[in-house]
Amino acid sequence: MRDVEPNQDRETAYECFECGNIVLAADSPDKCPDCGGAMRNRHIPLE
Ligand SMILES: [Zn+2]
Repeated sequence: MRDVEPNQDRETAYECFECGNIVLAADSPDKCPDCGGAMRNRHIPLE
């Protein structure tokens, strides 16, 4: 588990898995507003 960093209480970029749309939001969006696809937080590295 990763703790949320102290300075991250503002907008974070989320990227759509399906179409690559970038959404800035304070809270994780459930779905892409464009295509309804799953969103992922771009600040979490995929290792
Ligand atoms: Zn999308």
